[in-house]
Parts: sequence; C-alpha cells; structure tokens
Amino acid sequence: MIENGSVDISEGDTPRYDIDSNTLTISGGATEAEIVHESTHILINATHKGKTIRRGDHETAAYLAAALWALYSKNEIAVDVPHMDVQVRRLAKTVMAFNSANPSGAFCCDPGDCQYIQALMQSSANGTDINERREQRGLSLCEN
Ligand SMILES: [Zn+2]
Repeated sequence: MIENGSVDISEGDTPRYDIDSNTLTISGGATEAEIVHESTHILINATHKGKTIRRGDHETAAYLAAALWALYSKNEIAVDVPHMDVQVRRLAKTVMAFNSANPSGAFCCDPGDCQYIQALMQSSANGTDINERREQRGLSLCEN
C-alpha cells in the first residue's frame, strides 16, 4: 500500500496517519512498533471504506497489532499510554493462544478488555477522544 503511492508520506517526529489527507507522518527514526501501529490504521481505512469507526476502536486495534508484533518478534511492547502495556500484553497473549488453537478462526476481543484499554487512553496525558467517529475513506488501491 505504502510502496505504490497509495498513501502519502510526510516526514515528522510524531508518527500518525491522517485519514482525511491519507498521509502517514513518520520519521526515519520511527520504531518498528510505531510503523506497525500506524500501518494498522492504514489497513483499517483501506479495508473498511464507508464504515464509521470509533477512534477508541481504531487505536485499540493499532496497539494490539503492535503488541502482537512485539510478542511474535521477541521485542518489548512499547506503548505511550501508562499502564496500557500490561493490558495489551494480556489481550495479545489471549489472541496468540486463540490463533494457535484456531488457525483459521476469527478472534473477537472481549468488549470489557477494549473498554479498559480505551479508558486508559482517554485518561492518559494523550487524552485520546475515544468516542470520535470517523468514516473510513479507503485507498484508491482498493477500489474496483
Ligand atoms: Zn494510533
């Protein structure tokens, strides 16, 4: 997606994906976990065109994806929200156990786990507006 120009890239110290401009802002020093996190936002946008998704759900998926990447690649789980690492690690390990037992199944996160993670986001210094709703715009790559 990114390599073929479907997502614009901008240089910046704070990694983020802007759905309106379809721009990934990232620095050359970005960590792999940051790239996984932001790429998850891009993937959700690409695969859910026309759907309205809460920011809290978007962020939970991105943090979970980065935690799964960390556990599978034997890296540390690095999150910018205090105490969230414990929660996303526990959820990621639950996903990994499910995937081991159900290679072709779809895991549904417990809503309570997501609510807890989102409460941490909302009450953190980041002050994430978890209830902000955004329509996913898709990528031109995905239009047929
Ligand atoms: Zn994010």
